Formats: sequence, C-alpha cells, structure tokens
Amino acid sequence: MTREIVDAVFTVAWGAATDPGRVRTSNEDSFLAAPPVFLVADGMGGHSRGEVASRLTVSVFEQLAGRPWLGPRQLYEAVHAAATLVASLGEGLAAPGTTLTGVGLSEQDGRPYWLAFNIGDSRAYLLRGQRLEQLTVDHSRAQECLDAGEIVDEAFQHVITRALGGGSRQPPVADHWLVPAQPGDRILVCTDGLTTELSQPAIAGTLLGESDPQAAARMLVDSAVEAGGRDNVTVVVVDAVDVSARLTLDGVDDDTVTEADWGELEHDTVIAPMEGGQR
Ligand code: MG
Repeated sequence: MTREIVDAVFTVAWGAATDPGRVRTSNEDSFLAAPPVFLVADGMGGHSRGEVASRLTVSVFEQLAGRPWLGPRQLYEAVHAAATLVASLGEGLAAPGTTLTGVGLSEQDGRPYWLAFNIGDSRAYLLRGQRLEQLTVDHSRAQECLDAGEIVDEAFQHVITRALGGGSRQPPVADHWLVPAQPGDRILVCTDGLTTELSQPAIAGTLLGESDPQAAARMLVDSAVEAGGRDNVTVVVVDAVDVSARLTLDGVDDDTVTEADWGELEHDTVIAPMEGGQR
C-alpha cells in the first residue's frame, strides 16, 4: 500500500549583527538565528535588567532550535513561557520587559510559509523582488496615532503598548501572520534602533545591493550606528534559498528508493551558529 506525502522543502541562509550604538553603554537587544526561529528582542528596564529580559526570552526560543518547523501552537507556548519568565523579574510599570519580533520557518499542507510574529515595536519586513514590505504592525502609541489619522506626538514616539513583562498583568498575545514563502524572498527582522536611524528606502537599498545575508546584516547595523546610533541596533536577515513542495510515495519497496532519496527527505537538525549560517 502506498500513500502520497507532500513534503515541504524550505532551505534558508541567514546572517545577524548587533551593536550597542554610540549613546548606550550596554546592549539590551538580543537575537536568535537558529532555524526554525529567527527573532530579535529589545529589552527595556533600568540597570541593564532589560538585557536580562531579552536574553531570557531568547533562551526560551533557543529550545526550539533544530526542530523542522515552527507552528502557531509552538509559538504561542513559547511566548507564554517567555512572558511568564520575564514577568517574574519584577512588577509595576518600571519592571523589565522586552519586545519580541521574528519569523519562523513554517509549513501548511506541505508548503513552506514564513510565520511572522510580533509583540512591541521591533519589526519584520519582507523583500520580494524590488519591494520591501513591513509584515508586522507596531504595538506603539505612534502606530495608534497613525491608525486614527492623527499627528504623531514626538513624546509618544517610543511608547510601546504591548510587551513581555514591563508591568503587563497578563501574558501578551503575539500577532502573527502566515505568508507563503517564495524562492528569493529575503526577510529582515530588526529592533527600532535600525528603523529610527535609517529610512525604508535606504534599508531596501542595502538589502537589494548586498546578496550575502551576513554582510547585509552587518552593513545595516553599521549604517545605523554611523547615522547616529542613538539606540542599540540589531538585525537578522534570512534568505529563502530553496522553497518547494515535494510529492513522494510512502510504502514503496526499499530497493526503489535510493539512500540519497531518503536522506533528502530528512530535515536538517543541526543547530545553527549564532551568526551567519545555512540549513
Ligand atoms: Mg530599541
């Protein structure tokens, strides 16, 4: 007896870079670049406790590294676990907190998808062809003003309305978006230290001009530091190298399937290095 299996193939290459910038003495941003998860976390809170919040969040998602896919349920569970950990650091509005924004490699009905997710004002973008599109919507007063058609008050520019910790009474819900992946897609995940220093056309120009994801991530971070570097800046770039759905037959005689065939069907479970890599 045989049955059809649709097996999604999603090969990616990535790069990541971070810098404290020119003003801050510590770097409270953290990132994870370990398939199936790519994310940034922008910590906040005095005495470097924001750094603890963002690192704790990364440590929870690190446990998903090496799995073939990130699904909405795994995402929900990891967000809940991270929020609980961060909330344990303190109570009240001055309690440490962190944003959480990223993409997961996901699969639906045998087809590869980007699973973008967001809490706070870090961002994920999709570069497809020549077009750079913001996938996530900021949780910020500034975004609320834009949505209401009001002028954005400078005083509210950096006030975020959703975070892990930071005095939240309940674990926050991550907004998420499933986007069918295409070969050649390039994802940018970044903290606001990038987007407050560089315009979207400038960011798009660098992403279009540098094909290597590690070099592109480093160039974006360096440009933001040169432009002022008033905040910590962190960038993760993920490229879709191979995106396809493969139909195979299960239950066929062993001698009709070569070892190489089966090897290809198994997902890579190597845990990625912290910066550039490929799976
Ligand atoms: Mg920031």
